[in-house]
Amino acid sequence: MDIKQQINQLREALREHNYNYYVLDKPTISDYEFDVKLKELQGLENKYPEFYDANSPTLRVGGEITKNFETIVHDHRMYSLDNSYSKEDLLDWETRVKKLVDGDVQYTCELKYDGASISLTYENGELIRAVTRGDGIQGDNVTNNIKTIPTVPLKLKGEYPPKFDIRGEIVLPHDGFLKMNEERIAAGEEPYANPRNTASGSLKLQDSAEVARRPLDCLLYNITGNNLGLETQYESLEKARAWGFKAPQESKLVNSIEEVLAYVNYWDIERHNLPYETDGVVIKVNGLQQQEELGFTSKAPRWAMAYKFKAEQVVTQLNEITYQVGRTGAITPVANLTPVQLAGTVVKRASLHNADQIAKLDIRVGDEVYVEKGGEIIPKIVGVNLEKRAENSIATEYASDCPECGAPLERKDGEAQHYCPNYNGCLPQIAGRIQHYISRKAMDIEGLGGETVTLLVKEGLIKNYADLYMLTKDDVIPLERMAEKSAENLVNGIEKSKEIPFERVLFALGVRYVGETVAKKLVKHYKTIDAIMTATQEDLVNVDEIGIKIAESVQEFFSDQDNQELISRLKVYGIQLEMSAEKLANQTETLKGLTFVVSGVFYRVSRNELKKMIEDNGGKVSSSISSKTTYIVAGDKMGPSKLEKANKLEIEIINEDTFLAKLGM
Ligand code: AMP
Ligand code: ZN
Repeated sequence: MDIKQQINQLREALREHNYNYYVLDKPTISDYEFDVKLKELQGLENKYPEFYDANSPTLRVGGEITKNFETIVHDHRMYSLDNSYSKEDLLDWETRVKKLVDGDVQYTCELKYDGASISLTYENGELIRAVTRGDGIQGDNVTNNIKTIPTVPLKLKGEYPPKFDIRGEIVLPHDGFLKMNEERIAAGEEPYANPRNTASGSLKLQDSAEVARRPLDCLLYNITGNNLGLETQYESLEKARAWGFKAPQESKLVNSIEEVLAYVNYWDIERHNLPYETDGVVIKVNGLQQQEELGFTSKAPRWAMAYKFKAEQVVTQLNEITYQVGRTGAITPVANLTPVQLAGTVVKRASLHNADQIAKLDIRVGDEVYVEKGGEIIPKIVGVNLEKRAENSIATEYASDCPECGAPLERKDGEAQHYCPNYNGCLPQIAGRIQHYISRKAMDIEGLGGETVTLLVKEGLIKNYADLYMLTKDDVIPLERMAEKSAENLVNGIEKSKEIPFERVLFALGVRYVGETVAKKLVKHYKTIDAIMTATQEDLVNVDEIGIKIAESVQEFFSDQDNQELISRLKVYGIQLEMSAEKLANQTETLKGLTFVVSGVFYRVSRNELKKMIEDNGGKVSSSISSKTTYIVAGDKMGPSKLEKANKLEIEIINEDTFLAKLGM
C-alpha cells in the first residue's frame, strides 16, 4: 500500500471512531488504541506534508489563531423564533397556519437548546465554513474554532447534496461546564456564570487550541440550501444523522397541537435529565412545501413557534448567610436555606454573588426567598416575598471581618467582590495557593492532594509552595492517613516537579490573571523569570494580548518582597525558571516586526511547522490578509479569494523556498 492510501485509511478510520465515540456515544476501540492511530497519522502527515488536508482528524486539536473574525453574509438569513407561553398561543398559531396552507399539517417537535447558534457550510461533503448567527444577516467566520468540536463532522458519510448549510446550536454540557469552573477556581479566576454564555464566548476565542480544550458539543436541527431533495423537517433530521451529524434524538413527529402539548409536558420534567440546558420546545410545520407557503415575517418563520418552559422557582426560607474565602482572598456570600426540592434536586444553598446583590434585593435572614435554577448549576435567589417579612427583621449587614482569620475585609474601588487582605495568615488562602501550585495543569505533583496540603499547613509543616521542597518522608509519615509508601510517593512527586517547564511554573506561581495562556505568552516573550520580574509596565503591555490589568498584577506580584524570596528559593531548589536551552536555540528575532499569512500546501515543511518557525523567529502569523500583512507565504493551491485580496492590497507573495531562505535554510 502506498503512503497516500495509508494516510487516507487512517483518516477514514479515525473519523469513524470519532463519530462512534462522540456522536453515537458507542466507542468500538479503547482511547489508547485511538491515540496510537492518531499519533501514527500525525507522524505520516509530518513526514509527507504533500498530503495535507485541512479536514484531517489530526487538526481537531486546534492551534490556529484568529485575530479578527472575518464578517460573512449568510447565504440564507438566520431568523429568530416567535415565542408562545400557553396552550392558547399555540392554538392561535395552529389556526393561522391552517388558514395559509392546504391539507393536513404535521409538526416536528424539537427541544430548544440554550447555546450559541451556528451555521455550517458543506461543499462536496467537506466542512468549508462555520459562521455565527451575528445579527441574522451576517456573522463571524469561526471555522478554525468550530473544527475543534468533535461532534462537528469535517467530512460527511453516505450520499449528501453537493452544497448546503446546516444550522444548530453549540452547547456546553453541564458536566463539562462544572469541570471548567473547578479549573478556573483553581486558577484564582471567577467561575463562569452559565453554560450558554460560556459556549458563545468560546466561539470567539482567538486561540483555537483553547477552544479544543473546552468540552463543547454541536446539535444540528435545520438544513437549508437549494435542490436538496428533502420533503419534510423530520426527514431532514434523519438525513443529517445519516451524514454524520448529531441531530438530537429527542425530536418527534406529531399530528396535532394536543400531541405537541403532551411533548411539552413530558420534556418540561424530563429535560432535567439531559446533559445540556434547554429552555423550551420548538414546533415546526413538518412539510417543507408547506413551510415555503407560510414563509417568514420580518424576523421569524411563520412555520415555527417556540414554547418557553417556565423557569423553575420555589419558595423557601433563608436561615443564614455565610462567607467563603477563595485562594485569592475573594469572599463569596452563600445563602443557607431550608432544604427544598427544585428541578429534581434538593437545594440547601444558593449563591448570593456579592454585597451589591444582597443590597439590591434587600435579602435578609429569616426572609422567604424565591430560588431559581437557570443556566447556572448553583441556584440563585431572585427575590424576596416582602409580604411575609417579619416585622422585627433587620437589614443585612455584609461581613466586615474574614470568617477564617478575622482580618477586616477590603473592597477595591470598582470591584464587586470583598477581599480578605491577610495574604500570609489566612488558611484557605495559604492552602489554596499551594493547592493551585500542585494542580494538574500547573506542577502536576502526584501523590499530593488538596486535603493533605491543608493538613500540612495546619500542622505548620509548610507555609508556601517553596516549603514543599524541604519536606522529608519523616516529616509527613506522622500525618493522619499517611503510610510509608504514600509518604515516599509524595516526596518523589515533589522532586519530579523540578522537571516541569517554565511556562507551567509561571502559571503555578498563582499571579492573578496569569492563566495558562498568558503564562505561555510571557515566557515566549521574556524567556526568563528575571526578565519578567524586571519588566516595566509599559514593556509588559507591549506583549501580545497583555493588557493593563494583567501588567499591573504581574508587577505587583513580583515587586512583593515575600514573592521575590519565594522565587529565589525555587531557583535554589532547581525549579525551571527559564525557557529550556533546547527551546531557546530555536528562537531568533530574524522576523521581528513582520506579519505573515500562510496559505496553501507546502513541501519542505508542514503548514504548522512553517507557522511555528515564523513565531519562533519573532514574526507574527495572522489568519487573514489585511493592510498589516507583510508577506503571504503561498504554497500550492492558495485560495483564489486570498490571491485576489493580496493583489488588491499589493502584498508581496513569496513561496516556501524564499521564506526558508530568509531563515538561512
Ligand atoms: P430566540 O433567540 O429566543 O429568538 O430563539 C431563536 C433561537 O433558538 C435560534 O436562533 C436558535 O439558535 C435557537 N434554537 C435552539 N434550538 C432550536 C431548534 N430546535 N430549532 C430552531 N432554533 C433553535
Ligand atoms: Zn482571612
